[in-house]
Amino acid sequence: MPPVIFRKGLDLKHEVAGVLAESYHSALVQDIKANDYRFSAGRLTIHLAREFGFCYGVDRAVDYAYQARKRFPDRRVFLTGEIIHNPHVNDQLRAQGIRFLTDPSEDAQAVGDRDVVILPAFGVTVQELQRLSTSGCTLVDTTCGSVLNVWKNVSRYARDGYTSVIHGKYWHEETRATASQALETPGGHYLVVLDKAEAAFVCDYIRSSTRPDASRRAEFVTRFAQASSQGFDPDVHLQRVGCANQTTMLSTESLEVGEMFRAAMRERYGDGELTSRFRAFDTICSATQDRQDAVVQLLDDETIDLMVVIGGYNSSNTCNLAKICAKKVPTYHIADPDGLLSSQQIRHRAVPDQVEVVTEGWLPAAGPVSVGLTSGASTPDNLVEVVVRTLETFTADAACPPSLAKLTGELRRDPP
Ligand code: SF4
Repeated sequence: MPPVIFRKGLDLKHEVAGVLAESYHSALVQDIKANDYRFSAGRLTIHLAREFGFCYGVDRAVDYAYQARKRFPDRRVFLTGEIIHNPHVNDQLRAQGIRFLTDPSEDAQAVGDRDVVILPAFGVTVQELQRLSTSGCTLVDTTCGSVLNVWKNVSRYARDGYTSVIHGKYWHEETRATASQALETPGGHYLVVLDKAEAAFVCDYIRSSTRPDASRRAEFVTRFAQASSQGFDPDVHLQRVGCANQTTMLSTESLEVGEMFRAAMRERYGDGELTSRFRAFDTICSATQDRQDAVVQLLDDETIDLMVVIGGYNSSNTCNLAKICAKKVPTYHIADPDGLLSSQQIRHRAVPDQVEVVTEGWLPAAGPVSVGLTSGASTPDNLVEVVVRTLETFTADAACPPSLAKLTGELRRDPP
């Protein structure tokens, strides 16, 4: 029997709208948007990026998860893993009674035909989908349309005899799922490059492939052992390449990586063969692009003393937002509002070291302070609100106690 798969919701959108609004929305954030994305309180001004927070894919995935729980109250409802990379959202789902197959206490092999399994926004590998389908469980597929678009391109590359070169993180669920699509066509292969340094190594290899070098080849195979398909032979499988990317990468870097491969293929095979040996599609999703463009715009338009970026440390799109901001101003990537320890201390993920640190003296102790604020595609607005309120408290002076603002719950606006 083919599995039951829900791909367009479960007809309970209105029934779960209330609990979703309660759990993730924020009236304060709506007010700030209406106030030209600006919040002022005493010496504090916060400039909110014009695009931030939940993207359309995450919105839909969370919505479907709540609908699934409501539709099947008497059945076990599982997620294959984190639905999105936000600990707060995942905790809320657990509170609804949704279980995670990646938890040590769960046995993914024990999923049966009475169970419901939700596939996350970034999708699952072909093998995992087959395994779940065989179990007979009911599937709720929340794979984002933008991810499906990448899969389409990668599948086409494989069918046409091109190796997919994926700019992404080989360990990331989305990239693993995307790479698995290349293997659906017999003879299909993939290679994942993390950044420009890895792309440069591969491009050098392509350029020098007229002069076989055993030690260089061995170095290649070792370096990409985990980031390439089984049996990947750089001397064979780099002769025709098609570029794609994880949807949440830094878009400027993805474009540069694509151009590096184009240049290497042109150099190796000449202009005449370029179209038959190289293809590229920009598969950064529009939500990621919009959020990245918005912080660039914010930093161009406003005078900002520091940026606060909110989102899970393992959220690729959040890390890239922090990377963009850190080039211009001191930037603090916090996993959630708890990172704001005090007006003196902040616990955050350092850019680019990617380790969690506690920084002292992050917030100017006196005088006007202008804070830029954004959040990743998996961060709900209610967490943004907590950050705004906490910053308000940290910068309040005795003449204007924050508790007053909290009591009134009103947004204090700039004079016109
Ligand atoms: S970040 Fe983009 S691809 Fe990922 S879920 Fe959101 S909209 Fe979809």
